Amino acid sequence: MDRRSLESVFAGVAQSVLYDEPLVRHTTWRIGGPADVLIIPGTLTEVKAALASARRHELPVFVLGRGSNLLVKDGGIRGVVLKLGDDFAAVETSELSLTALAGRTIVSAAHIAIRRGLSGLEFATGIPGTVGGAVTMNAGAHGGEIRDVLAKATVIDRAGEVLEVLPQDLAFAYRHSGIGEKGLVVVTATFALTAGDRVKMQERVRAWSRRRIVSQPLSLPSCGSVFRNPPGDFSARLIEAAGLKGQRIGNAMISDLHANFIVNLGQAQAADVMALMRLAQTAVWERFGVKLEPEVRVVGEDEARR
Ligand SMILES: Cc1cc2nc3c(=O)[nH]c(=O)nc-3n(C[C@H](O)[C@H](O)[C@H](O)COP(=O)(O)OP(=O)(O)OC[C@H]3O[C@@H](n4cnc5c(N)ncnc54)[C@H](O)[C@@H]3O)c2cc1C
Repeated sequence: MDRRSLESVFAGVAQSVLYDEPLVRHTTWRIGGPADVLIIPGTLTEVKAALASARRHELPVFVLGRGSNLLVKDGGIRGVVLKLGDDFAAVETSELSLTALAGRTIVSAAHIAIRRGLSGLEFATGIPGTVGGAVTMNAGAHGGEIRDVLAKATVIDRAGEVLEVLPQDLAFAYRHSGIGEKGLVVVTATFALTAGDRVKMQERVRAWSRRRIVSQPLSLPSCGSVFRNPPGDFSARLIEAAGLKGQRIGNAMISDLHANFIVNLGQAQAADVMALMRLAQTAVWERFGVKLEPEVRVVGEDEARR
């Protein structure tokens, strides 16, 4: 569909509708071609209106969080990108639970839990995504992951129905859930927590944070770990042992600090990152017979819309 037709389909569906929006502005890697339409809804009604318009015109919908686990290809994303942002950030706690809207960052939700003496989300204090992205990715660290603490979620399906779902409905696996395949949009998540000692929790997350600061290239744009860890080993160890630390293609570089991070040195292209990913996969396969599987989601098209 051309831009003018898209403008007539989506006019007024939400307070913020952007056309040909460069996704480089919406990913932590600062990489990505344009979305045909980027809709940032302010209310649930706008989410439903956006989904209904897309459905009526048979346009694909991609849901975006903070773009912290995405490699958007240089040609961008066709159809609709729906981003739940700051208007979906409310958080409330009750005695032993925390409920957050999906656009809230999981880091800030986890810190609120700690301040209120609720334990269970400390592992998420270094994960720079949204609550919706964390649930969808079954994000985890330090031995904890979302499926350990999720009590329920509210989702909207592509027919616009609002449903309450339980963890057993979501096909959780390592850094994966069935949310994408089912075409669901996560709107809220409720986490079941336990009473914890604030000071001890804070000490623990500070120690983790210090470790991350010295071991990860946090001052350069990245998506965190590019590859999943293979059973019983670490992708970073294998890539480093294959001699690839510091390897550069264009402005993308395998970090010289942590070999499972690829950093953007400035205006890197998705094609550069993908070439480095293939290089790492080939080298690790040839040297160690281990197949590296991407943890990052690669989405979009190689070529721009004409
Ligand atoms: C420096 C750095 C460190 C990181 N460390 C970790 C770590 O320790 N552990 C870890 O697990 N990850 C880590 N990550 C990766 C990333 O932060 C997580 O995967 C995070 O959960 C992604 O959330 P997001 O909002 O950015 O989602 P996005 O990257 O925007 O999207 C990821 C997937 O979730 C889907 N999605 C997003 N929001 C919704 C929604 N509301 N409804 C339905 N689907 C949705 C998208 O369609 C996509 O398929 C790190 C990333 C960086 C940059």
